[in-house]
Amino acid sequence: MSSCSRVAVVTGANKGIGFAIARELCRQFSGDVVLTARDEARGRAAVQQLQAEGLSPRFHQLDIDDLQSIRALRDFLRREYGGLDVLVNNAGIAFKSKVLGAGVPGAPASEDAAMGEPSFEKGRRERGAGADPTSFHIKAEVTLKTNFFGTRDVCTELLPLIKPQGRVVNVSSLASFQALKSCSSELQEKFRSETITEEELVALMNAFVEDAKNRVDQKEGWPDISYGVSKIGVTVLSRIYARNLSAQRGGDKILLNACCPGWVRTDMAGPRAPKSPEEGAETPVYLALLPSDADGPHGQFVTEKRVERW
Ligand code: NAP
Repeated sequence: MSSCSRVAVVTGANKGIGFAIARELCRQFSGDVVLTARDEARGRAAVQQLQAEGLSPRFHQLDIDDLQSIRALRDFLRREYGGLDVLVNNAGIAFKSKVLGAGVPGAPASEDAAMGEPSFEKGRRERGAGADPTSFHIKAEVTLKTNFFGTRDVCTELLPLIKPQGRVVNVSSLASFQALKSCSSELQEKFRSETITEEELVALMNAFVEDAKNRVDQKEGWPDISYGVSKIGVTVLSRIYARNLSAQRGGDKILLNACCPGWVRTDMAGPRAPKSPEEGAETPVYLALLPSDADGPHGQFVTEKRVERW
């Protein structure tokens, strides 16, 4: 391995959409693919599965909740490749819910809601009958910790390593749109702002967790769906990072976007979802492999390979 090899990293790649993204990158990306997982045994088993298919991913441990783990990956990438060409931030969590109307057992409220199910506004919240019994403020804290703060920590450590013409894909969700629509108009305005800073966004995400703890989240204009709020964070963070990249490294032609894979059959979304993990991987892989002369999309939210207006 030398610093002239290109390298792509996928987070949360031991199963689900992340695994399918890693497999497709092994097939299509000209360079090394590093499959990462928080659990070494699960990650190595996934690598073996791809090796059995004739593919050659490398493995590195990565728990996005653990700064030391993120920094160990950063040091590995610096040492072995002198940087990073493609980063796919896929790792994420969602609390399960039993109810979710429409008879979708096991699917997270967030993801079938993301499909625009009409009952979302009425019942698919993380509070109330049928929802996972974990207290809402715990759901808020745990979900934000991984989906927003963990993803942000990975970006803080790895974005400075991104090489010219690099590609960054943050797997968000259409649930971020649903959650945005359910925020107060004041919050909506802040999240749609073209000038919001990373610090302001972090303060808002912390405020959500604090408001949930103090049971004033509804009064403060938050929807009671922490998964959707965490993905608002991922979508807005992507817009901020893209803006910063354009301002600070405009000549490097780095393209960074958020995306939704669609509603995909995984442990997170359950067996009734319409898409296979391979189909779910299509948009993230498309964004990861945007040609070197492409000048967009950048700073967008993309689903089904199309830009959605935030
Ligand atoms: P999944 O099957 O549950 O896979 C999630 C992956 O993330 C697993 O590899 C999991 O590892 C990993 N992960 C969780 N916490 C982590 C952490 N702290 N550090 C590192 N890895 C961690 O879910 P999925 O459906 O493939 O979801 C992948 C992404 O797509 C998520 O960001 C999700 O929000 C998003 N998404 C999914 C859908 C859908 O319909 N499935 C729709 C929209 C967006 P373990 O195996 O160790 O738990």
